[in-house]
Amino acid sequence: MTAMNLSQARTTLRDYRCATCWGPLVALDLQNEAREFDVHCANPECSGTGFVTAANVDRRRSDDLADYSDAAYNLRDVLPGLKSGKTADEIIQELGF
Ligand SMILES: [Zn+2]
Repeated sequence: MTAMNLSQARTTLRDYRCATCWGPLVALDLQNEAREFDVHCANPECSGTGFVTAANVDRRRSDDLADYSDAAYNLRDVLPGLKSGKTADEIIQELGF
């Protein structure tokens, strides 16, 4: 649990994402005397407890998209289904595995 005051919670929700899944965060009012909020990942199936900056997530996603484009181009002859929108399972099945 990451307990913080309202101001810290608002800033964290705006500027940070889950360190595990890069998804948005939510703040749960702990309704205690200190008026604290528990900030955690919004995805109930994620066990992530840390935060990364939203700017870092945007930069990493941009880098990953560039890497994907390079891989799709470089592997176009051996993996023709890569840009067809097929799933990894469909491509693997077509390759005989
Ligand atoms: Zn998460």
